[in-house]
Amino acid sequence: MDRTRWLFAGQLGPQFDDGGKILLIEARSVFGRVPMHRAKAHIILSAIRHRARTGGKRLEFHQVEDYREVVTDRDDLEVIDPTSFRARRAVRAYGAHVLPSRGFVTSEADFADWVGPKEGKRLLMEDFYRWVRAREDILMEGKSPVGGSWNYDAKNRNPPPKGATNLGLPAPWWPTEDEIDEEVRVDLDRWQKDGLVTLVGDDGPRRFAVTPEEAEAALDDFIDVRLPDFGTYEDATLTNDWTMAHSLLSVPMNMGVIDPRRIVDRAVAAYEAGDAPIEAVEGFVRQIVGWRDWMWHLYWHLGEKYQTSHNALDAKRPVPREFHELDTSGVEANCLKQTLGDLRRHGWNHHIQRLMILGNWGLQRGFDPSEFSDWFVSSYVDGTPWVMPANVVGMSQHADGGIVATKPYAAGGAYVNKMTDYCKPCRFDPKVRVGENACPVTAGYWAFLDRAEPHLRGNHRMNQPLAGLRRLSDREEVVEQERDRVIV
Ligand SMILES: Cc1cc2nc3c(=O)[nH]c(=O)nc-3n(C[C@H](O)[C@H](O)[C@H](O)COP(=O)(O)OP(=O)(O)OC[C@H]3O[C@@H](n4cnc5c(N)ncnc54)[C@H](O)[C@@H]3O)c2cc1C
Ligand code: SF4
Repeated sequence: MDRTRWLFAGQLGPQFDDGGKILLIEARSVFGRVPMHRAKAHIILSAIRHRARTGGKRLEFHQVEDYREVVTDRDDLEVIDPTSFRARRAVRAYGAHVLPSRGFVTSEADFADWVGPKEGKRLLMEDFYRWVRAREDILMEGKSPVGGSWNYDAKNRNPPPKGATNLGLPAPWWPTEDEIDEEVRVDLDRWQKDGLVTLVGDDGPRRFAVTPEEAEAALDDFIDVRLPDFGTYEDATLTNDWTMAHSLLSVPMNMGVIDPRRIVDRAVAAYEAGDAPIEAVEGFVRQIVGWRDWMWHLYWHLGEKYQTSHNALDAKRPVPREFHELDTSGVEANCLKQTLGDLRRHGWNHHIQRLMILGNWGLQRGFDPSEFSDWFVSSYVDGTPWVMPANVVGMSQHADGGIVATKPYAAGGAYVNKMTDYCKPCRFDPKVRVGENACPVTAGYWAFLDRAEPHLRGNHRMNQPLAGLRRLSDREEVVEQERDRVIV
């Protein structure tokens, strides 16, 4: 049968197109399900409409209220397996012919081969990463890693340069908006006015690539300008440098307009040409071959109920209004104010802002992990259902009791003070835990340990922090202060 391939947002690049007929649907109802960052809605619509323009006669494009208007009663559909449990159920219900998923360095079958013999054993990203490196011959010399080490963390992850307000790199490549972006803004304004969607955050100039051509330009720029500094500053944050040396490639990868393997190969080629040091290139390759593929496979491996069935630290606080509305007007903690402000402006933060500022804040204050995971999906331009559960419920909130991460990513103000420039202008003092100037991150860290101690006692990686807690002279005072403090 001459099948028509139904493509989803997330499958918009050439690697999802085998040359046959294509069906593309823009369904308005998808944007009305839950409140969403306006920049995210813009990016998805812009990406779909740009793809529709390049399809020629092979492509059938529909702008409708609901998918069902187009796909019900069709028997010619095929799909590349989509990226969420919900979408997979839907395409099977419509009777579409299903092909294996694409868009990652390793396939689901590859992961099944790796994980099969590990039944009952602890699964570690590092083991998976090394297996992929060897199997795919990425940065390898025979059976050994190029440079003699699998990991260059000791050379990477430096604090920001002393006294700097930015890294001093040229501004990243930005897309030039066109009439499609213009039209998207008009439609979003109308949908908002008609009450059809709830959008938060700014829809400033589009900063992320949504077509294969734009993704190539963003990749060229990253490889030439920021890759050499990627490792050194991958964990650092500066107020006046929202992108630091990051690639800004998660959006085009998650929209499927660029193949992650191509990005990896370009980074490796830069190392081979002597244009970027091994620690930067290994650190970057690890993000994609390691973390990105790992989180994807864990989504399926851990199962649909993983997100809602784990709450090991008994965290029940609703995600606060300031997060939902990205409203920083009453936020006093400068680290939180700046990070939520960047998110409002761009729909994006870099990894450390997500994990160690927002994630740490939620962990300390006991945000409901499943609700927090949903909040991340709708607030980030690169947010997808598959990426969040292991990143948020597992890594950031430790709600799974240690399946994804061996210990909670909890930190006090000293960490924020070392890795960012947020503390100096802040009205709180990262060294103070009690009183008017007590830093909510420092005091929050001890209050968190106090609350979580019964759950963490058996974890040998927490022995040292818990011993510190027991030695704390003002433990009760800190805990009481944080219990009563009205803070976001
Ligand atoms: C709490 C939390 C929420 C996150 N939410 C998202 C999200 O919604 N979408 C998303 O794509 N990534 C998410 N990440 C991972 C990571 O923070 C982003 O991929 C990254 O900040 C995107 O910016 P970049 O492309 O400049 O990344 P770079 O720093 O340049 O890294 C390169 C690439 O590595 C990949 N990567 C690195 N770490 C991860 C990871 N833990 N999980 C998945 N991919 C990773 C991304 O594809 C990224 O583009 C999250 C991490 C945490 C801790
Ligand atoms: S002093 Fe505390 S609250 Fe203020 S920026 Fe530093 S860590 Fe954040």
